[in-house]
Amino acid sequence: MNATLQNLLQEQLNLLREQHLYKPLLTVESAPGARVRVGGRELINLSSNNYLGLANDDRLKAAAIRAVQEYGAGAGAVRPIIGNLALHDELERTLAEFKGTEAVLVFTSGFTANAGTIPTITDADDVILSDELNHASIIDGCRLSKAPTVRYKHKDMDSLEDALKAASGAKTRLVITDGVFSMDGDVAPLDQICALAERYDAAVMVDDAHGSGVMGKNGRGTAYHFGVKDRVDIQLGTLSKAVGVVGGYIAGSGALKEFLSQRARPFLFSTGSPAAVAAACIEAIRVMRADEALTPRLWENARYWQAGLQKLGFDTGVTETPITPVMVGDEARTQALQKGLLEEGVLALAVVFPTVARGKARVRTMPTAAHTRADFDEALGAFERVGKRLGIL
Ligand SMILES: *Cc1c(COP(=O)(O)O)cnc(C)c1O
Repeated sequence: MNATLQNLLQEQLNLLREQHLYKPLLTVESAPGARVRVGGRELINLSSNNYLGLANDDRLKAAAIRAVQEYGAGAGAVRPIIGNLALHDELERTLAEFKGTEAVLVFTSGFTANAGTIPTITDADDVILSDELNHASIIDGCRLSKAPTVRYKHKDMDSLEDALKAASGAKTRLVITDGVFSMDGDVAPLDQICALAERYDAAVMVDDAHGSGVMGKNGRGTAYHFGVKDRVDIQLGTLSKAVGVVGGYIAGSGALKEFLSQRARPFLFSTGSPAAVAAACIEAIRVMRADEALTPRLWENARYWQAGLQKLGFDTGVTETPITPVMVGDEARTQALQKGLLEEGVLALAVVFPTVARGKARVRTMPTAAHTRADFDEALGAFERVGKRLGIL
């Protein structure tokens, strides 16, 4: 390898290690359940986005196997060429019905759904108004767009209104927000955002990666939760988190779907998902619709877990959802908390800069519907011991 490049990479890596920002990649040797095997040890898993436990559900696995047998392992081409399987169409119909929107277009990930959609629907004479804590894939989508992006203060409606006023000369104003913010677990005030957008003739896009399967009836999303699904122009959902598989989708009007299918670059130039993925997602939506107890179980578990942490004296930040940060602040101490928990048999990963701001490091925990009270009680014991040892408690 070129010596200059090699030295540069090595220097950057050393810097990350010095600043406690280096994160080793863990290897999981089992299915992503409430407990996982890592390094030959069984650990309580508090770090996956598998909210409903569907990632390892027998019904999803059976659907995936049947699809492989019928359609093979891979889609064989990008969807606009010859990779558009009947299962892709069926998944899109299933999702549109579930979300109550005219149409849905599926992408191979939530990331590419954002990075592909935002630059496709905006141009140089438009303005994007983006919450300052929006997900990295929204930020990248905005960077790829020719439209200028204005970041408004997190969930601050005065700040959004100022930005909308300042953008009055633009052709289109597009407000983009996470539905549920992935690092803090707080929820965007979609009712207020929609009202402001209507007043200033702006379109609204909600990234519901962490709202899909979690918020609203049967997990239909944050727009459902606020009763504004017909006032939100574009909903992004993910199939990678609560749905338990992988992929992302855009739910909205028929024209939106049609235009994206003609112009969105990740849709045009990246191969469609394997049949197994589409089939497992269809089955997941069926299970979510049929099992009324699934989402309530997630929320009940989240309440139990959060109450337990708070009773011990941990700061769980501003969360309003199952996402449960354990706020520490200092990067080195946060990494030490992760390490101590790991030694105690609990997998709960540290989140540090650049995922969150410097000095806002936390261990982010994710209770799911698949955890039992015994899992939580055991994990709380570990949190208490390590928290005391590190002086966090
Ligand atoms: C995880 C996430 C994504 C990306 O979804 P993938 O399907 O994992 O690519 C997009 N937006 C938000 C807010 C997320 O949390």
